[in-house]
Amino acid sequence: MNMQEYIEEAERDLLHTYNRYQIVWDKGDGVYLYDINGKKYLDFVSGIAVFALGYNNKAYNDALKAQIDKVIHTSNYYYNVPAIEAAKKLKKVSGMDRVFYTNSGAEAIEGALKAAKKYAYLKDGRTDHEIIAMEHSFHGRTMGALSVTGNPHYREAFEPLIPNIKYATLNDFESVKAQVTDKTCAIIMETVQGEGGIHPVTEDFLKQVKALCEEKDILLILDEIQCGMGRTGTMFAWQRYGVKPDIMTCAKAIGCGIPVGAFLMTEKVAQNSLTSGDHGTTYGGNPLACTAISKVLDLFEEQKVLDNVNEVGEYLAGKLDELVLKYDFIKARRGLGLMQGLAFDKPVSEIINKALERGLLLINAGTQVIRFIPALIVSKENVDDMIAILEECLA
Ligand SMILES: *Cc1c(COP(=O)(O)O)cnc(C)c1O
Repeated sequence: MNMQEYIEEAERDLLHTYNRYQIVWDKGDGVYLYDINGKKYLDFVSGIAVFALGYNNKAYNDALKAQIDKVIHTSNYYYNVPAIEAAKKLKKVSGMDRVFYTNSGAEAIEGALKAAKKYAYLKDGRTDHEIIAMEHSFHGRTMGALSVTGNPHYREAFEPLIPNIKYATLNDFESVKAQVTDKTCAIIMETVQGEGGIHPVTEDFLKQVKALCEEKDILLILDEIQCGMGRTGTMFAWQRYGVKPDIMTCAKAIGCGIPVGAFLMTEKVAQNSLTSGDHGTTYGGNPLACTAISKVLDLFEEQKVLDNVNEVGEYLAGKLDELVLKYDFIKARRGLGLMQGLAFDKPVSEIINKALERGLLLINAGTQVIRFIPALIVSKENVDDMIAILEECLA
């Protein structure tokens, strides 16, 4: 079948919940993807911040293949070695104490919310606890994650969702304080808002929220699903600010393409929240998924991925800043490390489509922001190539 025939068949058979770009992929290599006609694309999307190590990483592929030949799934009635090893490594890089494996980011958010509710329930026995989330946040598409997603447009048709969710404004501490009551059990936010347009939290704001949480025994949940796993230059974005959450969620790059996520918590939360029978998942933490996590964490260290993020991230930010100065329709650059956004004064879809024709993959974050979230092994040369194509599209 040719590309057009595949696309027509897809649009007949798949539920149409995505407006897809008109490309059918064949394979990937490093920071490049190839469509089924052999056309090569420089990829600054990396499967939405997933393929941190680049496509077709041999050491990663070999580890997965070896595990496939041993055992792929055994269930959570038993222990398995990759899950134990991956947990040890996750604890080491995060400083958190306990890990629960999930299959996606949204599922990690569900678990985090349940842990926070149970923690508060064990304290006072109430069943009407409140959670404070941020406007313009994104935490996923399942009913619980949607309940704390600060985009009314995503939520409306699915109401009623989880009750007692209140919204505050990111980086406006007074707006958070104004929503706190004696029923507040958790405050949840992305350390760097992704889908909402690449907005990092400010250090002051995060520190003030953390102090408030400690004062009132409210749990701070940081969603590191997109901004975590090295993307901003530290393993987790909160480490830059030295503000440790009580519960943290991760997914996306943690498995580099194998569908996996996790929520992690401190020992205090672990000892006073979810217990036997409270939570579970059939696939979560299976040997194949955990081999992926384990190998990804090894390769981050071996390949000094964080050093590359800091070096190339700074270079990318500099190049994007030049564009802000040069073009008056580009309003600002925002972001940290290799999680960058360019804010325009108009919709960016046309620019993204032009880039696609020229073999460059970019995505938006909201209608007026182009998001740059390449593989974390991207080089300065790749950045130069990307900027050259982007400038052709801006002209
Ligand atoms: C992608 C994302 C999610 C949802 O993850 P899924 O794996 O798509 O369920 C949640 N939070 C943030 C910040 C994300 O970027």
